[in-house]
Amino acid sequence: MIKPCIFKFGGTSLATAENISQVVDIIARSEGPLVVVTSALGGVTDLLVSGLPADSARGAMVKRLRKRHLEVAGELGLAAPAHDGFGKYLEATLSDLESLPLDPTGRDRDLALSIGERLSTNLVAAVLSERGAQAAYVDGRPLLRTDSNWGAARVDLDSTHSLVSERLEPLLKEGTIPIVTGFLGNTERGETTTIGRNGSDLTATILGACLQSDEVWIWTDVDGIFTADPRHYKDARLLPEISYREAAEAAYFGAAVIHPHTLWPLLETDTAVRIKNTFDPGCDGTLICRHPRRRGGTLLTTSVDGIAVVTVGGYGMVGVPGIAATIFSTVQAVGASVLMISQSSSEHNISFAIKDEEVDRTVEALDRVLADWMRLDHRIDRIRVVSQVSIITVVGENMKGRHGVAGKIFSALGHERISVIAIAQGSSEYSISMVVKSSDTRRAIRAVHSELDVNNGD
Ligand code: ADP
Ligand code: ASP
Ligand code: MG
Repeated sequence: MIKPCIFKFGGTSLATAENISQVVDIIARSEGPLVVVTSALGGVTDLLVSGLPADSARGAMVKRLRKRHLEVAGELGLAAPAHDGFGKYLEATLSDLESLPLDPTGRDRDLALSIGERLSTNLVAAVLSERGAQAAYVDGRPLLRTDSNWGAARVDLDSTHSLVSERLEPLLKEGTIPIVTGFLGNTERGETTTIGRNGSDLTATILGACLQSDEVWIWTDVDGIFTADPRHYKDARLLPEISYREAAEAAYFGAAVIHPHTLWPLLETDTAVRIKNTFDPGCDGTLICRHPRRRGGTLLTTSVDGIAVVTVGGYGMVGVPGIAATIFSTVQAVGASVLMISQSSSEHNISFAIKDEEVDRTVEALDRVLADWMRLDHRIDRIRVVSQVSIITVVGENMKGRHGVAGKIFSALGHERISVIAIAQGSSEYSISMVVKSSDTRRAIRAVHSELDVNNGD
């Protein structure tokens, strides 16, 4: 069996003709069997999301999409026949978009969002062919079998496995590089689905798992995973290696460099993930693997903004079975997702963090469901909301058994006079999270990051 390396290029690597040229060079220069996964051109999915509702916006959006893709194709110097091929594909795809109902939902919305990846991937394949590489555009929809949870469809790895092998192995055997759309799948009935915003990372690891790849390389606009977001924190340091667990935890708590679900398909495989910089391909990047050998004692600091903390409290909550279950099943029923939970040991309070935009419907539902507990016997006497906060998380496997990490974090925050609204520690001791006011986030990260960095390896 051929075990290809998987390369995934994100929207930031595909934003301009110059960037795409760089991507094409990387692909053309690579040795050995390869499968490439591409996102939409940078900003295109956002444009699709914003232009779908109104008639006037739809027309303007289609014009912008046509112009942007034709300009990029032109700048990439596609010669007439290939350009013609891409041009035809572009028109056919845009007319799919025009024929969808206004403000589409569910399946129609996913079909609309699929257009970004279909266009970018077709374009990259056309440029590669034009430059003499043996590459083929592959619509990834029939490869990934998903349920019909529109907008965040879940992939059935078992059926996907055989679909991927069936369709990609013949291409690999003849030495062709398949250039596959990220982010997309199909239901059993052949309806288009999308697997969640930023989901192309997941497409890449799914293909890696199905094809038993040794490595999946995620190419982006930074050198790898840093101790803090390098775009905002100049002191952040590149981590040469990190474990699956740590990377997943960091991604979940806001390190946008990989999608939080990226690693699950690999948990039972030997496939490692490498983060690489499209704009500095010589840099080794970060290797995400099961047992990092060069890990050292460094911790990562991440943040998630746009959060609200809801606290349900009351003296009567102590020792009453079922309160937590009632609260969290209510939150789940309104479709809000809980990012962090903290409970005081006396059980007078249960606090949880959700996205700001989920607060109104969550509190409304809690008011309704907890009404009896609140009015009749006053077991619960308050539901309190603190909005415009951020979760700051310190992540690191080596936190386990290392004394004083929490102490250092809180003294750094205390020193900066930043008050902590809630705290939670993962039971695995891979992470400690705290909630601070959004306006304090940058300062808090800087303080925590520099305190932990100074004390690195203690
Ligand atoms: P792509 O379009 O390639 O998928 P993303 O924007 O999704 O790129 O992810 C790359 C971005 O992730 C970087 O530009 C960086 O600002 C951000 N990022 C956040 N936290 C980290 C971190 N700890 N290490 C590296 N990058 C991070
Ligand atoms: N283009 C999609 C998005 O912007 C998927 C991705 O980039 O991974 O969400
Ligand atoms: Mg991304």
